[in-house]
Amino acid sequence: MSTLGYLGLATVATGCVAWTMTAVAKRYDAHFSAPANDVSGSDGGAAAARLPHGVSMTSIALRQGLPEIPVRMRALPLDSRGYPIPYFVARIDGKPDFRVADTEKFATCIYYKRCWICGTQLGQYKAFVIGPTSAVSRTSGEPPCHVECAKFAAQVCPFIVNPRASRRDSGMPVNKQAPAGTMFEHNPGVALVWVTRDSMAVSVRNGVIFRMGEPEQTFWYREGRLANRDEVRAALETGLPALYDLAHDEGEAAVLELDTAVARATRYFPPYSTGAAIAMPN
Ligand SMILES: [Zn+2]
Repeated sequence: MSTLGYLGLATVATGCVAWTMTAVAKRYDAHFSAPANDVSGSDGGAAAARLPHGVSMTSIALRQGLPEIPVRMRALPLDSRGYPIPYFVARIDGKPDFRVADTEKFATCIYYKRCWICGTQLGQYKAFVIGPTSAVSRTSGEPPCHVECAKFAAQVCPFIVNPRASRRDSGMPVNKQAPAGTMFEHNPGVALVWVTRDSMAVSVRNGVIFRMGEPEQTFWYREGRLANRDEVRAALETGLPALYDLAHDEGEAAVLELDTAVARATRYFPPYSTGAAIAMPN
């Protein structure tokens, strides 16, 4: 049977990318509290207008202790509060809603190979922001990004920065395009940037997921920093019971196949010294 058959259903749109920008926006808010006469609702707006000429939003973000905003993301428009608006963000009644992915953008990213976050052309490398169990299933619910854009997302996603956060509590809407598969309620606390040259959009039931090829690099993050091997192992172990439940439903062959997939995923764990795991040729 195809691994994708049941593991594809376990693919979770972690929402990290969407939440990334929400988190960034909140930090901008602290810096750009809107004046009483601020007229919101149009892109740009008073907050953007107050930016002194020649001072980029990046320098402000850096003062907030955020990782440096990747060059490609600096061209993103700002909303009325000074928020950079990621490419995928939908506009509801003309206003960007950071929690909702635009279905047309989703399709554009697939067909024109654009970055999910910055919207510019992808190169040969595709980076997925995923949770540990996606390293087993090798599927993602969100389109790929540039490596730099993905790393930025993985470092500031509140589900990683604050492991106590939970999707359910947060009211995070599910990506409208994500397949209605099994949702994990646990928060692994660890995000992975999976860098590959080989990925493919695949239709499953009522949605689209992305099948990820062999990684050339993997970067594991926890609480905004690189995760160590023990943290990654612990995070994956919290997600495995749900995967094995699905495999058991499929039968013994699926369980054996999952065993193999788990072992394969551990090859990309960080080494004992914290750092990027560089994939070795087979
Ligand atoms: Zn990008």
